[in-house]
Amino acid sequence: MDIVCSTEELKLFKLIGDAAAHMNVSCYLIGGFVRDSILERPTKDADIVCTGDGIALAQTVAGLLPQKPQVNFFKNFGTAQFKLNGFDVEFVGARKESYLPESRKPEVTPGTIEDDQLRRDFTINALAISLNKEDYGTLIDPFNGMQDLADKIIRTPLGPDVTFSDDPLRMMRAIRFATQLGFSITEDVFAAIARNKERIKIISQERITDELNKIMTASKPSVGLDLLFRSGLLREFFPQLADLSGVEIIEGKGHKDNFYHTLQVIDNTAAKSDNLWLRWAALLHDIGKPATKRFEDGHGWTFHGHEVVGERMAQRIFKQLKLPLNEHMKYVAKLVLLHLRPISLTKEDITDSAMRRLLFDAGEEIDDLMILCESDITSKNKLKVKRYLENFEMVKKRLMEVEESDKIRNWQPPITGDEIMNIFNLTPSREVGVLKTAIREAILDGVIPNNYDAAYELLLQKASELNLKPANK
Ligand code: ATP
Ligand code: MG
Repeated sequence: MDIVCSTEELKLFKLIGDAAAHMNVSCYLIGGFVRDSILERPTKDADIVCTGDGIALAQTVAGLLPQKPQVNFFKNFGTAQFKLNGFDVEFVGARKESYLPESRKPEVTPGTIEDDQLRRDFTINALAISLNKEDYGTLIDPFNGMQDLADKIIRTPLGPDVTFSDDPLRMMRAIRFATQLGFSITEDVFAAIARNKERIKIISQERITDELNKIMTASKPSVGLDLLFRSGLLREFFPQLADLSGVEIIEGKGHKDNFYHTLQVIDNTAAKSDNLWLRWAALLHDIGKPATKRFEDGHGWTFHGHEVVGERMAQRIFKQLKLPLNEHMKYVAKLVLLHLRPISLTKEDITDSAMRRLLFDAGEEIDDLMILCESDITSKNKLKVKRYLENFEMVKKRLMEVEESDKIRNWQPPITGDEIMNIFNLTPSREVGVLKTAIREAILDGVIPNNYDAAYELLLQKASELNLKPANK
């Protein structure tokens, strides 16, 4: 079997084969490494399975390597791992699993390579390559995984209901691989996901979200999100997103299907940026729409305030999905809140002051906000899209001009609160805040330019209105 791998990897695999022969066990490359090498996709880890003690094999191999990498192992699981120049190598003893009907936990006993392949999730993940002297490099493919790789198909080695019921995370993995690899899930496997969807509840949220993030990182996240939705799996762990779907019609007027609109926005965003959190902002930008949807007589459908409701929902969803509750959450919530602002500037008479306010509110996030906002321009009507994009380009240009002259994006007050307190001999108080706000508002409104002298002059004037005088003058 010819696979694409580096000379270092080949050397390592030979060494592993030799070590196993010394220990009188057989060993094989298996799983993701084999699959990705055949597909000529980059790999960063390799799994080795041996008919014997995986931990002992890992330790022997590590001892033979000039780098002597440190072996981490988990006795309970019989697995071991070491890193070699950033390449992750994992070892495990071949296992046989039998699930007793009355228990969810499988009984795991040592097994043959065939037993081990049978407990793998998909045929394309069950491919193994022998590292043994007598048949080094031979592909062991009991379930026609090679054919499925060629046909771009996700299929389970066992009946899919058994595979998914034994470990429901595999339903997420099926959809994740379909998205990453651009494969299709066979009809019967997809039907089994729909039938077993409720079993996802026994899987920890962290592991579900891990798979969801891999879908979000793919080049077309919509593929996986659509499969999650259509199988019913999405509603099990992320009902707010599923709620975006559907079109209601009153008096002959419909609104767009916000779920499929959202999917298009994510793909548009993904085409422009690899930033996972920007993609999350795209996923959540309209999440507040179902809660704010109204039909106004004579006007049609409205979603007033959905960006404000969406900002709050984004934070709750981060908690629910066990996503990080740190600056990433704040970033996503902020973009959801601001997502309408750039486009709203195309509708009114654009003043520089409105531009400065957007630059000030978005700050560092302005470029990402513009990507999100541009991605949000979707319509079946090509002419409409063209017109919106042209208007949008105009806003972008004006924003750049205003930023060039006024430097609002990373705005720091030209006079700090400390200076104000020094000048007027004040302690921290309401007055300091009033004066700071007056300066900021005057700059954003364009009443004064963004510099120290102008700010100082305004400060003296506002202070005298408050009966404050400079302390040393
Ligand atoms: P990637 O590394 O891109 O996530 P992978 O296929 O290598 O893809 P891993 O999670 O690293 O996935 O798992 C390595 C191998 O272990 C898989 O190829 C598969 O054979 C097996 N495997 C992993 N998770 C499961 C599971 N839940 N059920 C059955 N087999 C699994
Ligand atoms: Mg892997």
